[in-house]
Amino acid sequence: MLLQRAAPYVRAMVLVHNGLTYCSSLGIAHMHHPLAQFVPNGSSSRRVGLVGGTQVYPDRPVLAIFEAVGERDGVLYIIEGAYIADLLARAEGSEKRSATLSVGTGTLASDNRFTSGNATAPAGAVVLHNGDGMRVVVAGKIPSDHLALTVFAALICGVAVAMAVELGYSAGFTPRQRILRQVKVGLRRGEFFVLYQPIVDVGTGVWVGAEALVRWQHPRWGVVAPDAFIRHLETSPLIAPFTDFVLRTSLTQLGSLGLPDGFRLTVNLAPYHTELPSFPRDICAVLDLQPTTLNVVLEITERGLLTGENSVMEGIARLKAKGVQFAIDDFGTENSNLALLQRLNFDYIKIDRCFVQGAADSDRKLIEGIRQLGKVLGASVVAEGVDRQAQHNALQEIGIPFAQGFLYHQPTESEAFFDGYLASLERWRNIVAAQTVQTPAASPDGRVTS
Ligand code: C2E
Ligand code: CA
Ligand code: CA
Repeated sequence: MLLQRAAPYVRAMVLVHNGLTYCSSLGIAHMHHPLAQFVPNGSSSRRVGLVGGTQVYPDRPVLAIFEAVGERDGVLYIIEGAYIADLLARAEGSEKRSATLSVGTGTLASDNRFTSGNATAPAGAVVLHNGDGMRVVVAGKIPSDHLALTVFAALICGVAVAMAVELGYSAGFTPRQRILRQVKVGLRRGEFFVLYQPIVDVGTGVWVGAEALVRWQHPRWGVVAPDAFIRHLETSPLIAPFTDFVLRTSLTQLGSLGLPDGFRLTVNLAPYHTELPSFPRDICAVLDLQPTTLNVVLEITERGLLTGENSVMEGIARLKAKGVQFAIDDFGTENSNLALLQRLNFDYIKIDRCFVQGAADSDRKLIEGIRQLGKVLGASVVAEGVDRQAQHNALQEIGIPFAQGFLYHQPTESEAFFDGYLASLERWRNIVAAQTVQTPAASPDGRVTS
């Protein structure tokens, strides 16, 4: 139960090698950061740190826990400060009390405010230490019968952290065969669900599509993000029924909302899946069973296409003939074979977020280059992982037509997705109405096209 609540707050599980963080899809995207930015140096097997923010979210405090497997290697867990702040608020209750957590040289308050330095403990305050250098200070009106509650709340802090670590640990290090067995059972028991992240028209802000992103409601691990299991799944034949599930579910859920004809539904297609004998029969069967007015787009990384095997090409051609479109995912992270990409006639290129991070500065030229390439290949460009306004502005200036990222919306359930879609339309209508009032002769269409 506690674990289920803790799970959504684990923002990232990052591998650390030689004192540097490695690729993670959540929060500290594709950059190498010194471990010392998060936790103090030392040789203990668990080191804990509190920082005021990360590069992606400079204003969101996080608790960092490093589980060492060697002196400078191990796993770093990043837990949202908001979660710890929630627990502290519970310890405060409605009385005149304050509860803070200090770790190393930082302190977090129950309103999720971070200050550097250790909290001082006024006279009469309750101070609780745990073995990992965490210190909870509860000050103010502390009735004796509340003490047990306070101690309990402080313990929760420790337990929640341990649980969160266990979650990452179990999901990240369970042997492949066990994960695959559990996925198989999970599919049968309906433990997987799909969230949708909007693809936004950069010029108007209107949502024009959705990427289906799967989540696993594991009975013991809580909500598990795909990073913890997808690499095993994507190299196993189980990926075929799994993709069918995602496609079926998203066609049903998005198809029933009343989205306009041609609204894009993009589903990830694993390269290995395209090499299975069932491909593309399995995908065609789902599409035949569930005719749709949505525009189905399959996203595939370059990795799977570089072999250029005839059967894969034929499968893709067959799906194209059925009206399915294709996108190259994570563009730029693999060695591109331009001739092959041209032959495949892709509809969209998705620029990986590690380049989009620097859209406003270091990687601007690169993004301009990809836009040009998109033109040559006849493909529209989608920028992934946009989480800052400056990136959006740069993309608009460069003329990238579509974008996706936390700046616009996190992946969300289908009903909330539809509300968000309607709100994006409303915002755009208001802008157009305001422009029409100001300059009646001006065109309301401010779209930026590729
Ligand atoms: P992806 O296809 O590159 O999907 C985008 C990932 O980036 C998603 O993570 C999304 O939540 C995250 N993201 C979106 N905007 C931002 C942002 O502004 N900043 C940051 N830091 N991240 C952002 P998610 O949902 O955890 O998925 C991770 C990967 O798992 C996906 O990467 C995809 O490769 C795989 N995956 C997810 N669902 C499926 C699926 O149904 N089938 C297959 N085969 N793979 C899937
Ligand atoms: Ca994708
Ligand atoms: Ca991607």
